[in-house]
Amino acid sequence: MTNHANPSGFCCPGHSGAASAHAILAQAEHRAKARGLRLTPVRRRTLEILLDAHGALGAYEVLERLAAEGFGTQPPVAYRALNFLVEHGLAHRIRRLNAFTACTHPSEEHRAAFLICARCDSVTEAAAADLTHALSKAAEAAGFQLDRATIEAVGLCRACIGATG
Ligand SMILES: [Zn+2]
Ligand SMILES: [Zn+2]
Repeated sequence: MTNHANPSGFCCPGHSGAASAHAILAQAEHRAKARGLRLTPVRRRTLEILLDAHGALGAYEVLERLAAEGFGTQPPVAYRALNFLVEHGLAHRIRRLNAFTACTHPSEEHRAAFLICARCDSVTEAAAADLTHALSKAAEAAGFQLDRATIEAVGLCRACIGATG
């Protein structure tokens, strides 16, 4: 068994090289343009901050960075930018952590699943097409109209397993 650094179906902007965050930002810009959305400087910078972060960031952490760069110190500055990104699928909200993370594949429509490390709070967005398909079928069988589903799975990340083992 080889210890493959990048198992298929998972993506992590923090671990897949510097070009990746850049590529994701380009995809996000493309998506915003295609939809006629305005990626204003503060929205764009907020997305960059999320992409640079190792894990998910709370709204106040984002606000601190925006404020340090002169974008304003009022909480709505960060909240409005984050809500915009989430609403348009460029970022996701992780409810368990009350935090936000950049979407790692903003060019596709998708339901997201997150692998959250209970020890270091790192977040990995997992491809979950099969999972969400099963969920849709279960909802259908129950006569339930499914609007959105975000799967938040908790466990230990590779780095923390290594530290324990
Ligand atoms: Zn996503
Ligand atoms: Zn961890």
